[in-house]
Amino acid sequence: MNIDDKPREECGVVGAFIPSENVARTVFFGLFALQHRGQESAGIATSEGDEIRLKARMGLVSQVFHEETLVGLPGHLGIGHTRYSTMGGSKEYNAQPLIANGQRGEIAVGHNGNVINAAELRVEMTEEFGSNFEKSSDTEVIAELFAKAPGSDWFEVSAYAMRRLKGAYSLVIMTKDQLIAVRDPLGIRPLCLGTLNGGWVVASETAALDNLGAEFVREFENGETVVIDHSGIQSQIWSSARTNHAMCVFEQIYFARPDSILNGELAYETRQRLGAEVYREHPVDADIVVGIPDSSTPHAVGLAAEAKIPYTEAIIRNRYVGRTFIQPDQRSRAQGVQTKFNPMRGVISGKRILVVDDSVVRSTTITRVIKMLRKAGAKEIHVRVASPPIKSTCHFGVDMATLNELIAANKTVTEITEYIGADSLAYLSVEGLLRAVRAPENSYCTGCFTGNYPIPVQLEMNKMRFEVGINT
Ligand code: SF4
Repeated sequence: MNIDDKPREECGVVGAFIPSENVARTVFFGLFALQHRGQESAGIATSEGDEIRLKARMGLVSQVFHEETLVGLPGHLGIGHTRYSTMGGSKEYNAQPLIANGQRGEIAVGHNGNVINAAELRVEMTEEFGSNFEKSSDTEVIAELFAKAPGSDWFEVSAYAMRRLKGAYSLVIMTKDQLIAVRDPLGIRPLCLGTLNGGWVVASETAALDNLGAEFVREFENGETVVIDHSGIQSQIWSSARTNHAMCVFEQIYFARPDSILNGELAYETRQRLGAEVYREHPVDADIVVGIPDSSTPHAVGLAAEAKIPYTEAIIRNRYVGRTFIQPDQRSRAQGVQTKFNPMRGVISGKRILVVDDSVVRSTTITRVIKMLRKAGAKEIHVRVASPPIKSTCHFGVDMATLNELIAANKTVTEITEYIGADSLAYLSVEGLLRAVRAPENSYCTGCFTGNYPIPVQLEMNKMRFEVGINT
């Protein structure tokens, strides 16, 4: 059960080509570092140069893989994936990497993002390539496209795929002897490159490279394809990708780990600037600044420094409350936030508190936190949200709740203030957000805040659309 009032992350991908090693453990620890990006399923595929071996199951990375399973995945080449289902149901048959076959032999594919024209492509590819789709995720369409696309090398195949795929895709692909990594032409999801023990590692976030002890080389360019094999590393950028940029701004606000580098900057520092910016836009007197733990801590630290008000921990988070596979009943749903947070009365009582949240989706968490703080004796509670009101859903791999559930799509700021029980509430403006992330014009997707998407989307696209007709 997810008790966070946050957009749900998409997926994490890892790839490794290290000639002197078996890479299954490297891929495992890379996925472990990216567990925050998806907790429903995990999978690893490896090859020693002869055939692709695969294990993918429902569960956390540490639940799916054990010492014995890693030993059963030999090879110097591997990819891994940790998934939260943004398209296609939360079913084992959608766990990745996925396998596809074509004129270049067998490939395994791991995907982070969401392809918005997957339904159309399924119909077209069934006719053109005789494809027979068996699963329900957009990743099956990507895997089939890379397996069947015309082209004399992987760069031609990737350019062909980029011309046909619309949406977000950071990909790790492997054959029995090559590792291929691709970032979509808009660069919506992150992807980075590092070196390790004489080989190469790719990962969704630089924090995974850090955890592996790899040396960060660079972030992928938009529209870049990298091919790694025994002859070395080659890279090409699809020419049409050079002018378009639309990285998901929510990676900066919340999704990515704070210790990851995004667009050349540490996310922790960017988040501090988001906090400082919302205070500059909406100052208020208070005795202490408190962040909703843990994701809002950097924003609160930045706000406190700007406001010259002490930053204090006032709510302690139980670090062992996470995702469980126990379905919530009504009582445990209500219990969720209490189980997760414990307010410290001694710090809170009699104080004017400035509460910082990185983002508000439905408002369930902030409402319960305010109740807790009042009960613990807070004198005043002022809320500053270090991102703009979320008014639209996402179509590029993030589960935002439905439009009806998004509080800012249905209530004014004054109504929300009353609804959550705060003395005051203010959000960061879109302009303030773009200032804080130091964004050149049109270099980020801000669709969920502005309704303006980098490519036209069908509103309220149903993420389960491919489930129709699937029997399991
Ligand atoms: S709509 Fe929002 S969450 Fe989705 S890609 Fe754009 S900024 Fe990110």
